[in-house]
Amino acid sequence: MALIKGETGDWEMVIGLEVHAQVSSQAKLFSGAPTEFGADPNTQVSLVDAAMPGMLPVINAYCVEQAVRTGLGLKAQINLHSVFDRKNYFYADLPAGYQISQYKQPVVGEGVVVLDMKDADSREVGIERLHLEQDAGKSLHDQHPTQTYIDLNRAGVALMEIVSKPDMRNADEAAAYLTKLRSILRYLGTCDGNMEEGSMRCDVNVSVRKPGGELGTRCEIKNVNSIRFVKQAIEYEARRQIEVIEGGGKIVQQTRLFDSHKGETRSMRSKEEAHDYRYFPDPDLLPLVLAQDFVDGIKATLPELPDDKKARFVKDYGISVYDAGVMVAERETAEFFENVAKGRDPKLAVNWVMGDFFAMLNRRGLAIGDSPIKANQLGQLIDLIKDGTISGRIAKDLFIMMEESGKDPAVLVEEKGLKQVTDTGAIEAAVDQIIAANPDKVEQYRAKPTMLGWFVGQVMKSTGGKANPASVNELLKKKLDG
Ligand code: ADP
Ligand code: MG
Repeated sequence: MALIKGETGDWEMVIGLEVHAQVSSQAKLFSGAPTEFGADPNTQVSLVDAAMPGMLPVINAYCVEQAVRTGLGLKAQINLHSVFDRKNYFYADLPAGYQISQYKQPVVGEGVVVLDMKDADSREVGIERLHLEQDAGKSLHDQHPTQTYIDLNRAGVALMEIVSKPDMRNADEAAAYLTKLRSILRYLGTCDGNMEEGSMRCDVNVSVRKPGGELGTRCEIKNVNSIRFVKQAIEYEARRQIEVIEGGGKIVQQTRLFDSHKGETRSMRSKEEAHDYRYFPDPDLLPLVLAQDFVDGIKATLPELPDDKKARFVKDYGISVYDAGVMVAERETAEFFENVAKGRDPKLAVNWVMGDFFAMLNRRGLAIGDSPIKANQLGQLIDLIKDGTISGRIAKDLFIMMEESGKDPAVLVEEKGLKQVTDTGAIEAAVDQIIAANPDKVEQYRAKPTMLGWFVGQVMKSTGGKANPASVNELLKKKLDG
């Protein structure tokens, strides 16, 4: 466990996260207005979203289905009876003067997320609840020198607020939780998990305590929008709290902001200044009552989720738990891997996917779907190594040629004459030539047998990397020692 050293001994962090995940849906939670990202301001606003007098909300059944699907993916309790409340506050981007949200009776109750940690020690984080609510609009402060504009495109967009239990103990666990949650949401197709576009945002609750002691007072850092910033905010905030306590002060429950430029958190408002939202059930909306059949129907269509897929990969392909975790993190990666590995050496498949293939995607900034090298082509490359057509060294070059041309590996092997030379006659000629041309090195070799590597390198070079390395070694040894 990662403890923090203070002047008075070790401290433990306690972290709970509230994630706002935008529901993948064409329409908003209570109106038919579209939800596309990046549209011109105020082009996706219905009269309901603008809170015109007399407008009534109508629940979007698909958003409810998405919330239930997410709940099932989190192995959570689905509440067949839930209630929408009004959370009252005044703000310019909230024309109704209240946000419709679920308060005491959320649609989803307790669930669990399993973290994939590097040490393969699996940790679980409890889910407290998931509720549906509306997003607010956005104030634009940079459009006019003295005035603020309002864009209501986001007003009324469906959000799932996913609240974790205070089960995380360090920044890495918080990062692993967010990564896993995002992976599950993407598998389910209920949220695209795009933090840059704001479709996943995170409030970070942090407190510190002496190991095993009672929970400390928490501070909540609002709206952190990347996993890296979440980690930074946690580290900074925990240290700040320890310094306050060790300096004789007390932590007051507070809402704070993270300044990503300075890497620090600062106070926004304290508990005393916290809003009294005067929650009450929205009189325009009946309680949300779900039939068990509806829930069962959704359950029947759930895809294989990361944890199950990972267990299957370990069992069926015999790859390590860690490798399997990497292969299943994204649905597309898992599919790609399976297409490469089927009927082949799975370990070799993992190495190529995780190594050269991921490096290539990174280098080119590509998603797996846009890769110039398709799964079947990478599979063919592995086949060529396995059957001895090409050497492992040439395979690396061949990979680059495939990446640049999009051609099948076998075609390139023909075109470029990359076939491995296993003909010992040809290799022997190269060996003889190198030995004859370098009598001084031969001398050195007699004193220092590790010089063999130099000879191997020379022969490989003179054969364009195509000589079978095992034959080269064998022949060199025979000639040099003989
Ligand atoms: P609020 O709306 O007041 O923020 P919520 O119940 O929505 O309350 O969320 C509380 C969040 O704070 C949860 O994620 C929970 O795990 C976390 N939390 C509660 N107590 C602590 C604590 N002592 N230290 C850190 N996190 C905590
Ligand atoms: Mg909160």
